[in-house]
Amino acid sequence: MKCEICKNKIEETFLSKILGTYVKDAKGKKRMICKECQTKYKTKEEIIKQL
Ligand SMILES: [Zn+2]
Repeated sequence: MKCEICKNKIEETFLSKILGTYVKDAKGKKRMICKECQTKYKTKEEIIKQL
């Protein structure tokens, strides 16, 4: 799995939880975002703008 902003690989924990988050874009599509980008772009709106 890759982050949809920086294209880095997103790591998974042993419980298959991703080290990052999902955001829904304007079309309601789920986008995967890594922890770094989540920290960098603090709000959902900011994240969506980068996609
Ligand atoms: Zn990222």
